[in-house]
Amino acid sequence: MSEADCIFCRIVRGEMDAEVVHDEDEVLAFNDIRGLAPVHVLVIPKQHLSSLEEIAQLPEKVARRLFEVSSEVAEKLGVRESGYAVRINNGPDAGQGVFHLHLHVLGGKQLEMP
Ligand code: AMP
Ligand code: ZN
Repeated sequence: MSEADCIFCRIVRGEMDAEVVHDEDEVLAFNDIRGLAPVHVLVIPKQHLSSLEEIAQLPEKVARRLFEVSSEVAEKLGVRESGYAVRINNGPDAGQGVFHLHLHVLGGKQLEMP
């Protein structure tokens, strides 16, 4: 999928609406359109990476920010104390549906593996 077609790149470019929770230079966080928990936020690099296998293309400080922003979002949405999960679905068996790297931040209820 090209960046022109990628729905998360379209959100980054402001061509598609999203409920933005956090916006900074290289990282964006917005509510998942199909929330699976009271808190379900997607944290993405603004740079298009299709999977975790491309993580080396991301500057180290941006990769780090993905995790820091996940924690900041959990704090902002009130689940830091109660706990939350940060999940990456990568590839077919994980059910990856959008091929722009994203971290799911899930919380607000008891979560189960997997
Ligand atoms: P996955 O690729 O399986 O890790 O998950 C992709 C996630 O993106 C799903 O949870 C979808 O509900 C979510 N999603 C798809 N399109 C949008 C959108 N336009 N805005 C917000 N979330 C979306
Ligand atoms: Zn993209």
